[in-house]
Order: sequence, then structure tokens, then C-alpha cells
Amino acid sequence: MERYPLRVIQDAYAAFDEHVAGSIELARTQNGSKVPCKRGCSACCSEPLIVSQYCIPPIVEAIRAMPKGQRSLIRVRIAEWLRVLSNKGIHPDQTDPGLDFAAWHQKPKPVCPLLDRESGDCTIYEARPLGCRGHVAVDEEPSACDREDPTRGVGVLLFTDPVARTMAHCMAHSVRGAERDVPLLLLLLPSMLRRAWVLVDDPSLDYFVWLEEIERRWRAGEKV
Ligand code: SF4
Repeated sequence: MERYPLRVIQDAYAAFDEHVAGSIELARTQNGSKVPCKRGCSACCSEPLIVSQYCIPPIVEAIRAMPKGQRSLIRVRIAEWLRVLSNKGIHPDQTDPGLDFAAWHQKPKPVCPLLDRESGDCTIYEARPLGCRGHVAVDEEPSACDREDPTRGVGVLLFTDPVARTMAHCMAHSVRGAERDVPLLLLLLPSMLRRAWVLVDDPSLDYFVWLEEIERRWRAGEKV
């Protein structure tokens, strides 16, 4: 029996990726926008990221498939990441008159524990969550991706896409499990990864049930 609705998620990701690529093409051709994103640039991988709990199964499976040494390194990186994040906070209140934003910005950044820091590649690229798949920098200046520059401003979250919404609906209605008590949908990655790690560590843990009827309806384009 399939333990996770991975196929549904992967198909939804493929449709979402196609939509994002189409949106980038439109931004380039119709608006003349420049999109500096390229392989190996991981400037956005130190930004806090919103992840749906339904993005977790592919991440868990991808980490479970890694060699032990790599999993151990990720575990160390998660601890380090949480330390950096708790020291820096997610984002300061920019209306605070006492805020020194440049000083805040230049504090060490919480680099995603799933990033290969040498190559700048995502170690779970095919399984990366919607927030990463839809995060595209649209800017005139590639310097927007300079992580050291406190004035930089990047990122357009292409999250209004119906595929993403449909996927969220599909998952919300078809997936039930141990995460049931978690407030639905949007949680920040740190807490999600901590939860995900419990699943990585114990492969006997099952937390998803997939409902065939909901998948059929979703694939038929019905509202679910
Ligand atoms: S999951 Fe991958 S793409 Fe997303 S922030 Fe982490 S390293 Fe970057």
C-alpha cells in the first residue's frame, strides 16, 4: 500500500512548476522584467519560508533516501539553524523607530539546513516545497540577490496560482494523520522540519492516508 500521496503531490508540483515557468516567461516578455535566478544561487535559501504540511512527505522521503552521513549533517545543520534563527528572529518590526535594520540584516542568516553550501544546490531539489518552487526574484538588478546588502529587496511569491490552491484543497481534504492537531496549512519551516525529523528518524511512522475518490475528483478538475 502506498503510504504517502506522493504521486498526487508530485503531479501537482509538476503543474505548479509549469505555471511558474510560464509566469516567468510572461514577466520577461510582457513586462521586460529581469529574473536573475539561476542554479547555484542560493541567496533566498536563508530567508524564512512558509511551508504547507502537505509538502512534508516528499521532504521526509528525500531525507530518508540519503546516506546516513548526510542525514547526520542535516541534523546538525537543523540545530545550528534554529540557534541562528532564535538569535536573529524571523523579521523585525520595521515600524519600530529604534530599529537598526542594517545591523539586524547583517547578523548571521539562518541558512536552510537542506542546502548544499558548497555547490549552492538544494539537496532535495525535486522534493522542495511550494514556497521554494514559487519563489522567484524579479528585479532589474542582480545585486538584489546580494545577501550582504541590507537594502536589497527581492522576491515575488507566485502563490496565487490555482494549481497551488487546488493542491492545498486536495491535500486538506484527502490527507489526515498525526499532524491533525496542527493548525491547518501554513507553518514556518523550522517547526515543520523539527516535526518532519521525527518522521525521518522513525520510518515505521505513518501519518498520511490518501483518499482515492478525492484524488479522482481533483484530477477530473472538480472542486474538492
Ligand atoms: S528546501 Fe532547498 S530550495 Fe528550499 S530553502 Fe532549502 S535549500 Fe533552498
